[in-house]
Amino acid sequence: MKIICVGRNYVEHINELKNKKSSFPVLFIKPDSSLILKNNPFLIPNFAQNIHHEIEFIVKISKVGKHIQSKYSYKYYDQIGIGIDFTARTLQKELKSKGLPWEKAKAFDGSCFVGNWIDKNEFLDLGNINFTLKKNGKIRQSSNTSKMIWKIDDLISYISKYFTLKIGDIVFTGTPSGVGNVEKNDLLEGFIENKKIFKLEVK
Ligand code: MG
Repeated sequence: MKIICVGRNYVEHINELKNKKSSFPVLFIKPDSSLILKNNPFLIPNFAQNIHHEIEFIVKISKVGKHIQSKYSYKYYDQIGIGIDFTARTLQKELKSKGLPWEKAKAFDGSCFVGNWIDKNEFLDLGNINFTLKKNGKIRQSSNTSKMIWKIDDLISYISKYFTLKIGDIVFTGTPSGVGNVEKNDLLEGFIENKKIFKLEVK
């Protein structure tokens, strides 16, 4: 399986990193080796200290698809959730400034965390879901899926032009503003509406 991630999908986050708004979704991929195994902590890698949390709304692909029309995208996923796209920010800035790919900063071992999945039918409107990340009990990132520049179904359609979507693939739909660094012994907790979806320790 693969993890397809979307960058620059929330205006306030584009501004906080002083990035330019893109006229198309920014995509990158994390390999399956980036996934944090169940009940394991996030480990700060030894090659980078400045690691940022990026909470993201995620969907799990349930059907193989290529060249999916947006109006049919909903048939290709049945579970949604939230996850964290961990990013070695200083390293990413260096790579970006040299025009190099981001993988070392975005796709390293353990850089991808996925919380518990929820049946999408539990929600009336996936385009209006609140989600929140707390660090050590304090809200750090809080947003709503309505603030995405490109919506879930449009993203799935766009992604499938380039990459065949397979069962079990995960789409990370971009992070809202409020990204910040994590340190040893931090406790990260994720919420959809008021329901706690995950707890993750940093080691
Ligand atoms: Mg991200």
